[in-house]
Amino acid sequence: MGENYGLSHDEEYATALTVADFRTNIAEVDERIAATAARSGRERSEIELLPVSKTVPQERIRLAVEAGCHKLGENKVQEAHRKSHEMADLDIDWAVIGHLQSNKAKEVAKFASEFQALDRLKVARALDRRLQGEGRSLDVYVQVNTSAEDSKFGMPPEELLGFLRAVREFDTLRVQGLMTLAIFSSDVERVRPCFRMLAELREQARETDPDLIGAGRLSMGMSGDFEVAVEEGSNCVRVGQAIFGKRSVPDSHYWPENG
Ligand SMILES: *Cc1c(COP(=O)(O)O)cnc(C)c1O
Repeated sequence: MGENYGLSHDEEYATALTVADFRTNIAEVDERIAATAARSGRERSEIELLPVSKTVPQERIRLAVEAGCHKLGENKVQEAHRKSHEMADLDIDWAVIGHLQSNKAKEVAKFASEFQALDRLKVARALDRRLQGEGRSLDVYVQVNTSAEDSKFGMPPEELLGFLRAVREFDTLRVQGLMTLAIFSSDVERVRPCFRMLAELREQARETDPDLIGAGRLSMGMSGDFEVAVEEGSNCVRVGQAIFGKRSVPDSHYWPENG
């Protein structure tokens, strides 16, 4: 294969401390997306770069916004909600990309523009009720567990079609597509099948009924594996550390059983 995918989950990403640092990091990630798209015969414009600002304090997020970020991903609802208040003076759309408990649906309904980790009807129902109360709607991705690891959230692939049918009942939820986290491995050939499975599930859903899956977008790929994800058809890469710098909080904080 001969490509250097930069697949390393232990990579030392330098902390971005100035607007110029952010411009550089974003440009580098952007170039890698563009190069991968080009060699995969894809259009760069099909792929959204979603910067993930979890654990990053507002002082540095403000620099990232100055460098051009106007939509940010956050894993935890409370942190995202707090930041949306702290930076209410800025033009930022907040995407919640982490697991949600139904008792937090109320908060998401208030401020989020997108929720990428929908994986249970109980949560869909709670969101719909709260969104109706707020007179809002929400873009959602349905999260699928493509790695068969218990440590990853998301629904089992075999439940996806039934779930997509059921979610249609909720007018406030606009399904944009599917989201997944690949297995954490520096071995491309273990990561790739996760992304490939998500793309296959989208095809299955489309063939069953194109209306099931909205735009049919695929949210997959993070700092350590976004090039593989783009090769496999990603429409949204969620990139934290390669833009903001290495996190001091270990990933086991977000995927508890993984540590
Ligand atoms: C943190 C996070 C990311 C980004 O991970 P990085 O390694 O910082 O790029 C992507 N997706 C989800 C769901 C996350 O929680």
